[in-house]
Amino acid sequence: MKKGSCLCGKTKYQITGEIGDIVHCHCTTCRKAHGSAFSSVAVVHDADFQLESDLLNSFESSAGKFRYFCSGCGTQIYAKREGSAHIILRLGSMDDHPDAVEKSHIWVSQKASWYTLNQNLPEFSEFETDS
Ligand SMILES: [Zn+2]
Ligand SMILES: [Zn+2]
Repeated sequence: MKKGSCLCGKTKYQITGEIGDIVHCHCTTCRKAHGSAFSSVAVVHDADFQLESDLLNSFESSAGKFRYFCSGCGTQIYAKREGSAHIILRLGSMDDHPDAVEKSHIWVSQKASWYTLNQNLPEFSEFETDS
């Protein structure tokens, strides 16, 4: 079993089954919804996803596709298409390691112009000030 939660802690979930391959989505709606360069997501079957929340809200970002988020803190939790038997989990909300593998970058045609794929940038383990 793997766990996830929102920033304020009032939305929690458990996953009892398999988490699908990880996809990094660069579409404009993901960028807006997450306020970031891209959104990392994976499919989880409905039966394997148990949600506990009093504060979940949703936004229909395209016809029949709803993005669910915690209305207490704004954390994106999952998206779902009407009639589908799975959710599209937002991996940034996970507390545990998903035990899934990265598969692809999608919607690169809508990628942020200021983000470069496969760029070798310096890495710091924590915040790095200009000094
Ligand atoms: Zn929250
Ligand atoms: Zn997207």
